[in-house]
Amino acid sequence: MPEIFKLPEHVANQIAAGEVVQRPASVVKELLENAVDAGSTSITLVIKESGKELISVIDNGVGIDQDQLELAFERHATSKIRSAEDLFTLSTKGFRGEALASIAAIAQVSCKSRVQGSEEAFEYTNHGGQSYDIKEVVAEVGTTISVKHLFFNIPARRNFLKSNSVELKHCIDEFQRVALIHTDIHWKMYSDDQVLFDLPSSNLLQRIGHVFGSKYPERVVPIKEATEVVKISGYVQKPEFAKKSRQEQFFFVNGRYVRHSYLHKAVIKAYEGLLNNDYQPGYFIFLEVNPSMVDVNIHPTKTEIKLVDEFEIFTLLQATVRHGLGQFRVNATIDFDLNPDYQVDYRSEQSYSPNRMPKVQVDPSFNPFVSVDANDALGFSQLVVETEAEQTTFSDDFKGDTISFESSHSPIQLDTKYLVIARDTKLVLIDQYRAHQRVIYEQLLAAMTVEVSNSQQWLFSEEIELNPSERNQFSQIEDQLRDLGFAMSLTDHQLTLSGGPEFLDTPNALKLFKELLNLSQDKHSLESFSTAELSARILSRNMAIRSGVKLSPEQMRKLLEDLNLCKEREWSPDQKLIFRLIDVQEIARKF
Ligand code: ADP
Ligand code: MG
Repeated sequence: MPEIFKLPEHVANQIAAGEVVQRPASVVKELLENAVDAGSTSITLVIKESGKELISVIDNGVGIDQDQLELAFERHATSKIRSAEDLFTLSTKGFRGEALASIAAIAQVSCKSRVQGSEEAFEYTNHGGQSYDIKEVVAEVGTTISVKHLFFNIPARRNFLKSNSVELKHCIDEFQRVALIHTDIHWKMYSDDQVLFDLPSSNLLQRIGHVFGSKYPERVVPIKEATEVVKISGYVQKPEFAKKSRQEQFFFVNGRYVRHSYLHKAVIKAYEGLLNNDYQPGYFIFLEVNPSMVDVNIHPTKTEIKLVDEFEIFTLLQATVRHGLGQFRVNATIDFDLNPDYQVDYRSEQSYSPNRMPKVQVDPSFNPFVSVDANDALGFSQLVVETEAEQTTFSDDFKGDTISFESSHSPIQLDTKYLVIARDTKLVLIDQYRAHQRVIYEQLLAAMTVEVSNSQQWLFSEEIELNPSERNQFSQIEDQLRDLGFAMSLTDHQLTLSGGPEFLDTPNALKLFKELLNLSQDKHSLESFSTAELSARILSRNMAIRSGVKLSPEQMRKLLEDLNLCKEREWSPDQKLIFRLIDVQEIARKF
């Protein structure tokens, strides 16, 4: 009968290491997360040969006491949880107490540390997980952990590593993920003595710019929503900047990078009709849920999680992204030829999905351990008790905030500025200028993107003098102007306009031409919006009926009917609120 032995600690650690450390990037992730957990405000990652030779992380966090150094490298030794219950209220990234022990079993590791308030620093050196020594050194407050010769004692694993460029890419991915979450930390990354990133503490949008390029922030739109189940925030890319790669897609749940194919689908659904087939939008989406509703314990590398309310979150996420894109409605023509299959039909989708969720209550007696399969929708139905939808105060044609303006009630005009209608227990005040602006904007976008813009020959051509800088601006947008339908010829100083877009009369076409020329000085708007979107916005500003104009009952009804056909009814193209609701209770207080 074979005799049973207990494996020596360092062998057990080596086996465990196989799970935690697959490649240099795994070490990078663990060390960076430890540095964050230590409360650092500045963290530097140094790697050599894509981490195969050296991975070093220097932080200015709380440090590790001399008499704790040895313990930190033991398996299941952690300062972050004390009991199993703590697992459900985790606020730190680490909790397994496995990383340092595992890494030390398969590499040569040293850890230099000085705790805050102490004059002394110590360096712990581990020899392949079997022995160690500690000596006094000179160091700043904080911790520096260096990992050399990864897999030196497991040649088979070392041979399995990919080329330096592939391994470096994985290290950079890990660095970016953690840097995107912790924007208040100053991050640096060096590879083979070259600075790859130097990211000063900033806000999220600036951080995105520092990581992905200074133009990136102009190519995204913000999203935000909060319900009892989840808080959603972040940025999603405008559709015309989508690429054929999934590189820039990030989900963070409670401050942890996660992969989630189901939620990814929710985002992609929100882009429906806006993207060419295999194009992928970039996104940086932060979800906050009650920690007890997440199980991070599925896999040691912790990028997969289970969410209890997945189905609710899916619906809400889709609506939130759609709403975000709707507010900054941009057409999808830039990257794609004018193929009607890829155009957004601005009129076809009248029932814009409401972004208010039904009120959801969580069953307090629910036991998270019982429903094992998070994809089982039946599992959720047990814990989600739908209560009456919040928006019951509205009649049927009022769907929460995505209100519908039927012509059945006659509006009155207030101060030649607002239209007023009464609905059930609410007064609805509509800004006539903003409402009309929205109507014109969507009609023009539809004209410009759904149909190919035709040029219309003018009776008299218009001569425009251009100075050298205007000429230069003109040459930058000439192609787009022709696409819009402008017919032009240019001599030395003079531009002759002989036709314009079919859907505009000559004075409006001229106005548009001049404003576009003017705007082309402003690089920001040119880069972040398509010409069609810019044109629609400019024209809507110029053509909308201003306040001060008296409207006939017929005109008012028509305006509301047109607004009703808009995809977005809440926000004007300039991001201003179109209508406000006043509840009867508010009115009652005045009596
Ligand atoms: P975990 O992070 O899961 O607790 P680790 O093996 O990664 O486990 O780390 C073990 C312990 O070592 C941590 O709980 C922490 O107390 C300490 N530690 C690790 N890295 C650092 C650091 N950079 N600064 C301060 N303490 C650290
Ligand atoms: Mg850790």
